[in-house]
Amino acid sequence: MTIDIRTLALLLLLTPLFTSALFLLASRGVARQPGSWQWLASAAAMVVGWSLLLLRGTIADWLSIYVANVCFFCAHVLMHGSLAALLGTRRLVVAIRWVAVGCALVFLLVYLAGAELGQRAAFLAMCTALLTGITARLMLADSRNPPQPARRALGLWYLGCATLHWLRLAIFLVEPQQDLFAPRLGSALLFLTVFATEIGVTYGFPLVSRERLLLELDRRATFDGLTDTYNRFAFDTVAQASLARLGREHEGLALLMLDLDHFKQVNDRHGHAAGDAVLRQTAERLRAQLRVGDLLGRYGGEEFVVLLPATSAAEAIEVAERLRQAVRSSPVGYGAQSITVTISVGVAATVEPVLLERLYRAADLALYSAKRDGRDRVVVATDYGTVVT
Ligand code: GH3
Ligand code: MG
Ligand code: MG
Repeated sequence: MTIDIRTLALLLLLTPLFTSALFLLASRGVARQPGSWQWLASAAAMVVGWSLLLLRGTIADWLSIYVANVCFFCAHVLMHGSLAALLGTRRLVVAIRWVAVGCALVFLLVYLAGAELGQRAAFLAMCTALLTGITARLMLADSRNPPQPARRALGLWYLGCATLHWLRLAIFLVEPQQDLFAPRLGSALLFLTVFATEIGVTYGFPLVSRERLLLELDRRATFDGLTDTYNRFAFDTVAQASLARLGREHEGLALLMLDLDHFKQVNDRHGHAAGDAVLRQTAERLRAQLRVGDLLGRYGGEEFVVLLPATSAAEAIEVAERLRQAVRSSPVGYGAQSITVTISVGVAATVEPVLLERLYRAADLALYSAKRDGRDRVVVATDYGTVVT
């Protein structure tokens, strides 16, 4: 089988052209992710580069050799920039720019010195290996927390491409050739490797941007925007699963309902922005007191819920007391103001896999009892009756 190199080069031109056209059409009217324009510019640089390269022999050499390859360097820098913008990091962006500028300058010298095709191709393989390697580094760092399979897969893909570019560098050194489009091993490997790299460059951004969007949606669907605690739906889902396990594990479980006392007065006296700050900082104080595995949620308004797995009623009362003390003992700072708030807590504990609604009802009754008895206190529910602690 012989590979028609020109056809392959034409496909390399059409891939970013068609993909970016499709992307533009598909994302019409949709808010574009950061980095979108850099990615489109990267595709454009690629299309120009391949157009110039395909015209080799027809147009001036400096255009089809030097400018074409500088277009490819620019495409790498822009693609890297688009991914960095998407990931919200400036890491390695400066590095890739300087490496690209260095490559362009040295390549100018190589070109002006009249280097042969094999030498030029070997040098360009090294440049591409460096540029792809830096992007691989960007993609692989921090790709596990939270798990980002698309980012990681692309990082490994770029790493594989960088390795192939080093390999083709070796082949060009061993097997120099005069015609880029001749059906030789070096040329075939060059175009296949470049094709693999281009697939990574072209599809990397859409894949990672989709993954970021899904992560963001998942975060917003799980956490409350103001306090960064679990929202009601996510909290209930985890609580229900923990309750279902109780039948097997017999370890007990407790639910705390917390309500800020006279919170309306905080809003009235200090304004709603101060009220928001109180809610945020109260959530932080509560979180600081909890163990890994305990769950803090915002039930609504100025009410929080805490799920304490593997916890008895007595231990739950201790935790609730600790939370109450933590909130009352550290006033919330808002500008020059210091706002002291207290909480009332209703505690419900069970060793049976009861319905979550029953547990909520019991904790709620205990909380009402705490409010009635003067606030800033913990009350535990026992069989729907309440015991003041
Ligand atoms: P109690 O001790 O009986 O719980 O009195 P309270 O004032 O805390 O309770 P009430 O239910 O009368 O008022 C709750 C207030 O919480 C009213 C509402 O405006 C305020 N609130 C609810 N959600 C938010 C929020 O997200 N931000 C701010 N700033 N205020 C909120
Ligand atoms: Mg309330
Ligand atoms: Mg309240």
